[in-house]
Amino acid sequence: MSNLSLFDLIGKKALVTGGAVGIGRGCAVALAQAGADVAIVDIDEKTGTKTAEEIKSMGRQSLFVKCDVTDKQQVQAMVTAVVEAFDQLDIAVNNAGIAILGADEELPQADWDKVIAVNLTGTFLCAQAEAQQMIRQTPTEGKIINIASMSARIANCNASYDASKSGVVHMTKTLAVEWGRFNINVNCISPSYILTPMHASTPVAVRQRIREITPMGYVERPEDLSGAVIFLASAASNYVTGHDLLVDGGHTLNAWLAPLGREIPPRISPDQESKQMKADLDKMGLPYDANGINPDLHPEIADVFRQAFGD
Ligand code: NAP
Repeated sequence: MSNLSLFDLIGKKALVTGGAVGIGRGCAVALAQAGADVAIVDIDEKTGTKTAEEIKSMGRQSLFVKCDVTDKQQVQAMVTAVVEAFDQLDIAVNNAGIAILGADEELPQADWDKVIAVNLTGTFLCAQAEAQQMIRQTPTEGKIINIASMSARIANCNASYDASKSGVVHMTKTLAVEWGRFNINVNCISPSYILTPMHASTPVAVRQRIREITPMGYVERPEDLSGAVIFLASAASNYVTGHDLLVDGGHTLNAWLAPLGREIPPRISPDQESKQMKADLDKMGLPYDANGINPDLHPEIADVFRQAFGD
């Protein structure tokens, strides 16, 4: 096998949950670029169907499967539908996730329960159903990639989100230990702040602050995860399991001083940063201002940032 074919995904069959937009869509496109056929799994049927069409336009097989990852029956039916279409399942990216912001001293239990249900329980239910399929098929093997967050390592969002993501990282290690005997690698990827619909309400000042304290000097985009997801989905990572691959431009290194000394421009400009997020919002039919901001999409996030940074 040549070094390049180590990353080859031609003939591989994949699914991506939360794949309609944002990070999930970015992972799906990256897997398809590397040769995989990719099923798009989401609760957003309209946008998910469009993303599946986009994957087909790349010359790959695709389908949309509507599924709420918090519902075990729907998750089992989703894996069955993917395998009916593709005959097998080699790669699964468990990405569906939400954040419900709010001060923890007042957070309603229903908000806590929902975040844990989607981010932690949903990821487990998907991984379990995917592993059952991978164990059944011949040869028995597979790649499961859970999308965690830098919030698993730093106190960044709020308790429900940060705890759910720490749970994903540790659950990934345990599943890696248990399923290694089936030749299933279980890893996770932890992004930093990515310009997706989840972050479409972050004001200009916040984006600038992120650039200033991130060594690589720009705000992360879904495509910045392409290399990580192809690596963890491919033969290149066959001896990597239980790993949390942090892709954060150095943001969590707590480097507040050194990045300010930057004299040459970063690889990516602010315009390039928001290009894919604007494409996501266009696909969802959602408006945004000249800076690519839609404060109405997540008003609670916009409010928190407005209080801290102004408009
Ligand atoms: P996003 O833009 O909000 O997209 C998430 C997608 O998942 C949406 O299509 C959403 O549908 C869908 N979804 C929500 N709940 C679901 C459920 N119960 N079952 C199936 N699909 C569901 O999010 P993103 O920013 O791309 O984030 C994707 C993942 O990366 C999440 O796990 C998130 O925690 C993680 N992450 C994000 C960032 C970031 O800065 N954006 C950073 C680190 C980690 P609706 O739109 O209809 O709700």
